[in-house]
Amino acid sequence: MLDSTLQGTFDQVLRRNAGEPEFHQAVREVFESLELIQDRHPEYQEHGILMRMCEPERQIIFRVPWVDDQGVTQVNRGFRVEYNSALGPYKGGLRFHPSVNLGIVKFLGFEQIFKNSLTGLPIGGGKGGSDFDPHGRSDGEVMRFCQSFMTELHRHMGEYTDVPAGDIGVGAREIGYLFGQYKRLTNRYEAGVLTGKGLDWGGSLVRKEATGYGAAIFADEMLKARGSSFEGKRVAVSGSGNVALYAIEKAQQLGGVPITASDSSGYVVDENGIDLQLLQQIKEVERGRIHEYADRRGNGARFVKGGSVWDVPAAIALPSATQNELSEADAQTLVKNGVEAVSEGANMPCTPEAVTVFREAGTAFGPGKAANAGGVATSALEMQQNASRDAWSFEHTERRLTEIMKNIHSTCLETAEELGRPGDYVVGANVAGFRKVADAMIAFGVI
Ligand code: NDP
Repeated sequence: MLDSTLQGTFDQVLRRNAGEPEFHQAVREVFESLELIQDRHPEYQEHGILMRMCEPERQIIFRVPWVDDQGVTQVNRGFRVEYNSALGPYKGGLRFHPSVNLGIVKFLGFEQIFKNSLTGLPIGGGKGGSDFDPHGRSDGEVMRFCQSFMTELHRHMGEYTDVPAGDIGVGAREIGYLFGQYKRLTNRYEAGVLTGKGLDWGGSLVRKEATGYGAAIFADEMLKARGSSFEGKRVAVSGSGNVALYAIEKAQQLGGVPITASDSSGYVVDENGIDLQLLQQIKEVERGRIHEYADRRGNGARFVKGGSVWDVPAAIALPSATQNELSEADAQTLVKNGVEAVSEGANMPCTPEAVTVFREAGTAFGPGKAANAGGVATSALEMQQNASRDAWSFEHTERRLTEIMKNIHSTCLETAEELGRPGDYVVGANVAGFRKVADAMIAFGVI
């Protein structure tokens, strides 16, 4: 049970946003941390910050009609939730997946506010997407869908207003089609209006790698803070998309041995360490399925259909697929197998019960809004490069990313310490992210 003020606000959130369990979960988790600062900040209550923070500034829902390869008209639903612009233009990805609905977009947008605040860069929070499923669609179908989606979305965007990027189901191909249509509709080469662009047309080096690299760097920082490291340790990774692939790469560079990857059909275990080149060829180039990795690798690598990747013993876990993919039972298995650190590459991949298991076991746990902030941080670096008509080197950009991740890590640790909860990165991330946004909202008056 929350304290009475927070509970009252939370009840209102439940009433106003019925049937959106992921959104409720995200709000509740932040509220639990805010209990620790209720008494220190009466001004937040006085200015109605909590209720204003939970209510998006704007929510856009639109029809996306398009014609498939058989000449049949299809209709999807498009969303953009412009959540909070206290610190800068709305910033956050677009997700194309059949599970997308308003509640999912709101949970992601809400998380994004605090994540973006933690980066220390001038970006507000937003998120969007569609229930369109790109799996099995031809390039032509994906292009026509993206063009129709942007035909509506473009009127809400702008480099000082709202700057989308990729997420599940939205990679370089989709960003290309979206940017092309934006450019055509507006007759402007406004590069800073979308991030995750191709390197030849306004993209930034390291953006593709940034989320996965950042999650591994965050894990490394948590390990170092306890006198440990990646060196020679088994690393379990879920997913095999953008975040997972580059979490694997950075974990390898840090001396770890990633041994798993997954998709929605099952997972592979490769006791000799994942062959990243082969995995990239199958997933990034051929857009294939994860079992093909085991088929082609030989070497004892095996595919497990369905099941849980978290059954594989590992010292470090990097969940990098989707929300609520790691349950309480999975967390108990990981703890029993001696996991030292869990760093969330995905957004909210661990259920609240799983997080409790890690906290009680003393496992270092990095919540997504801190651990996967490297992606959006590098998007903000892409915007900086676009604004100054410049392109930075890989080394320079990676150095900036590493600095940002280290800063987020120390901010979380210091905030947790200040609140009497040493080592609690959840509390540290929620409170540090929240305070900056809340203070800016007070400065602006009731708007
Ligand atoms: P991709 O679409 O590139 O990859 C997603 C991966 O997760 C795929 O392997 C996919 O498998 C798997 N997956 C998706 N849904 C499910 C499911 N319901 N059950 C099991 N596996 C699933 O997405 P990203 O790598 O970009 O995103 C992964 C996570 O990281 C998301 O939570 C996203 O919000 C978060 N994130 C991404 C950022 C980015 O920069 N891209 C930034 C910050 C967070 P399949 O192909 O079978 O669906």
